[in-house]
Order: sequence, then C-alpha cells, then structure tokens
Amino acid sequence: MQIILFGAPGVGKGTQAKILSKKYKIQHISTGDILRDSIKKETEFGLMAKQLMDKGDLVPDNLIGDLVKEFLKSIDYKKGFILDGFPRTLEQCNLLDNIFAELQIENPHFIILESDTDLIVHRLTARRQCTNCNTIISLNHVKDISTCPSCCAIDTFVKREDDDEDVVRKRLEIYRKTTYPVIDYYRDKYNFIFLNAAEPVDKVTQNIIERLN
Ligand code: AMP
Repeated sequence: MQIILFGAPGVGKGTQAKILSKKYKIQHISTGDILRDSIKKETEFGLMAKQLMDKGDLVPDNLIGDLVKEFLKSIDYKKGFILDGFPRTLEQCNLLDNIFAELQIENPHFIILESDTDLIVHRLTARRQCTNCNTIISLNHVKDISTCPSCCAIDTFVKREDDDEDVVRKRLEIYRKTTYPVIDYYRDKYNFIFLNAAEPVDKVTQNIIERLN
C-alpha cells in the first residue's frame, strides 16, 4: 500500500497517517517530523530548517528531495509507505517523479484531504505535539495533557512555534499559492481520492479505508 497523503497544514494528515501506518503496517514518512527530529538533534541542517519553519516558510526543495529519497531507500518501500507533507511544490513533484522512477514505484494512492480555512486555524492553534513520540492531540478535545497517551512520557506536549495564528495563516497562504498546484500537476497521472477532512477523525479514517478498498 503506497500512499501520498496531501492537504493543507492542519487538515489532519499526520493524525490519519499515524492511524493508517499502524493499520496497514507501513512506514509513515512525515517530512515535518523528520525535520523536527533534526532540530531536536541540533544538526546543522536542523538548525537551518528551524529558522525557516518557525516563520512558516518552506525548506529548500533539493534538501527535502534528498531527505525523502534517503528515507525511502532505507525502508522496505515496496511493502508500502505513507508520504505526508511531500510534495509541496512543483519542483518537489519533479523530484518525486525521479525518485519513483529510480525506485520503480508506480501508481501510489493519492489521497487529498480537504477542509476550510477557519476550521484549520481553529484546529492548529489548539494542537499540541509530544516531543518524545510526535503524537498529536487537540486541546479542543483533551484537557489533561500531562501524560502522553501513546508513549506515557510526562509533560512532553508542546505547541509548535509554527502553530501561532499569524504563522498558521502564512502557511495556509503558501499552501494555496505554492502547494495546491501540485493537484493539477498530477491530475492526469494519478487517480485522486478526495475526502472531507472536517468530519471527526474516526469517520475520516473510515472513509479513507473504504475508498482504498
Ligand atoms: P508539517 O509538519 O508537514 O506541517 O511541516 C512543518 C514545516 O516543515 C513546514 O511549514 C515547512 O517549513 C517544513 N516542511 C515540511 N515538509 C516540507 C516540504 N515538503 N517542503 C518544504 N518544507 C517542508
């Protein structure tokens, strides 16, 4: 099961990808999570990426392309994967085409999660992420965030710098201008699965699974 999970920041890609990766026992590849891990490890690359990410800007295409390629090569990609957060620009589409050609990956499922801007802002500003295992929760649904329900770490939930409202709005603008055209780029190449991401998490998961079947 090879999946590209596409949609605006905050639409629920990370949450759905984590559920699907468990269900289908396939690797979740989140470029955002990989970058945040590099930041945590204070690598030179991570520190450079942090400057851009905190402002809501994109990290340069070639660096992200290399990162995705290396990651895919390091896993059993034939068995399956969920790509979350890549491609995000037309240049990244070119890079992805080259990676898929080299690794002979054909016809991944291309899932597009859709939701309106106000809901995304509401969700992202309430989002907290575990710094230990990357689990995402929402203050809109959970009030006690002292213990991570996934890894049991204590006091590890933080608000991402880029989830401040101003930065969220900038990220959504970049999505509209720079990332959304990816859909047109792939329109003739892949069959898209469009889904309404405004529904509850379980319902969105159920819809994805039904459509994949
Ligand atoms: P995400 O966790 O997917 O929302 O990504 C958080 C941030 O990481 C983005 O706002 C970008 O700064 C950076 N990032 C993640 N994926 C990419 C990508 N494919 N291209 C460029 N920057 C990315």
